[in-house]
Amino acid sequence: MEKDKVIVIGAGLGGLECGYILAKNGFDVTVLEQDGQTGGCLQTFVRGRALFDTGFHYVGGLGEGGPLYSLFRYFNLLDLPWKQLDRDCFDEVVIGDESFRFATGHDNFIEALAERFPHQRQELRNYVSFLKNVGDHIFDSLSPRDAGGFYSESLFARSAWEFLNETISDPLLRQVLSGTSLKMELNAESLPLYVFAQINNSFIHSAWRLQGGGSLVTDSLVGSIRSMGGKVLTDSAVTSIEVKDSRVSAVVVNGGERLEADRVISSLHPALTMSLVDNGLRKIYRERISRLENTCGMFTANIRLKPGMLKYENRNLFIHRQDADLWHPDPSRTESVLVNWSVPYDDSDYAINIDLLTPMRWDEVARWSDKRMGHRGEDYVQFKAARTEACIELVEHRLPQLRPAIDRIYTSSPLTYHHYVCQPQGSAYGVRKDWRSPMTTVLTPRTPVENLYLTGQSLNLHGVLGVSMTSLFTCASILGMDAVVRDTGVKGDI
Ligand SMILES: Cc1cc2nc3c(=O)[nH]c(=O)nc-3n(C[C@H](O)[C@H](O)[C@H](O)COP(=O)(O)OP(=O)(O)OC[C@H]3O[C@@H](n4cnc5c(N)ncnc54)[C@H](O)[C@@H]3O)c2cc1C
Repeated sequence: MEKDKVIVIGAGLGGLECGYILAKNGFDVTVLEQDGQTGGCLQTFVRGRALFDTGFHYVGGLGEGGPLYSLFRYFNLLDLPWKQLDRDCFDEVVIGDESFRFATGHDNFIEALAERFPHQRQELRNYVSFLKNVGDHIFDSLSPRDAGGFYSESLFARSAWEFLNETISDPLLRQVLSGTSLKMELNAESLPLYVFAQINNSFIHSAWRLQGGGSLVTDSLVGSIRSMGGKVLTDSAVTSIEVKDSRVSAVVVNGGERLEADRVISSLHPALTMSLVDNGLRKIYRERISRLENTCGMFTANIRLKPGMLKYENRNLFIHRQDADLWHPDPSRTESVLVNWSVPYDDSDYAINIDLLTPMRWDEVARWSDKRMGHRGEDYVQFKAARTEACIELVEHRLPQLRPAIDRIYTSSPLTYHHYVCQPQGSAYGVRKDWRSPMTTVLTPRTPVENLYLTGQSLNLHGVLGVSMTSLFTCASILGMDAVVRDTGVKGDI
């Protein structure tokens, strides 16, 4: 019998995971990627001895019993060289002159912070137990009885900022708990409690780096898809999605070849997907999708270090100015920087490279957006140099050894993500979910075109955990929820 044909647009994490699930379930899968390499935001690049990640630094919940553990067991990704971050301090939050440590495991997390905030122990317990409860229910929305995701829906309609204020009375402790903020866009007006709780809970469960970079994840998925008979094609940009009688009839690749399919999944930003659909969409739907706001982008200084100069640290540093308001950031200055060490490939005590990340808005770089890479002019070079210097200045108080250890710095801005992975406005985490309008900002995989589905970070939850969960939702729209639950075996693990 001929297999149903599925085309997946985009070979980032979301597209490849959908390709994996459907190939495993007997579909004839072709994944199309516009870039010369697969991986999307999980791409890596090499400069001399240093291997840099782009949109991947660490993941949460990969230890046994964690949400990512069951997902990655299914995707056959557990055997990659994962390295658990220090259990007594996987994230160090630095506010002004003081450091606070986040410890692995819910009880340890409470105790580590209660040492500094003894009078807040009960509030910390309430905070952590709420987060854990949300995390423990992460797969409930996969239950056929809860197909609309009842539990998560109510948390998408609550404000993370209000929850934090209601639960924690000490303003400094609130600041500390918000201190690992760069994993999401902390926005007091919009951030839903679901996103805040799910992401923070997964990292409290356990935090992990990958020796060799995020592309090992996507390379493994590509290999699995091919070994199951699927195709993954690079340099294959989808330039149009042809719709006839409310169904996709074909996708056009690089403006020429037409590929027919029974079903099409797009992992692109929803606005980008809809801009490719040639007809069959109501104006009101197109406008709704094109009006969705995006989360901010990220500026990264990828720093190659001189050999033997800076010790590897098995933790992340989140460094904030004393007076930074993390939920209402001041766009005119660099207030927060994440410092991430790459695991040295030779397991040496000394780091080979390090990344500094700080949020950056599209409007800061938009004036260079019509210029080609490498031709954006001296003022863009100066702009990036000034931002790099501001990051180093903020960091060197905690890390005085950094500056003399710098060999070479490579930088990227939202323009880079816009250019390489076609992310509108170079947004780091896709569509901004908003607790005030969950019905319009939290998207489902189904579209008005019967056989066109969405996946990827803009739908439900961003990041490696969020995108992996979303790929299950998308494939459940095709295979049925029961079949996905049976096939993946994720439910009942937690
Ligand atoms: C700086 C930064 C740091 C991050 N750090 C972390 C982290 O430490 N941990 C974590 O969990 N998450 C992190 N994230 C988030 C994480 O990288 C993303 O949520 C996730 O990788 C998104 O996957 P995706 O498949 O939805 O999208 P993408 O990775 O963007 O994949 C979409 C793919 O579609 C391709 N494409 C676009 N247009 C077309 C077209 N017309 N035809 C064919 N292909 C097309 C793109 O080239 C791309 O490969 C980070 C993100 C950024 C930006």
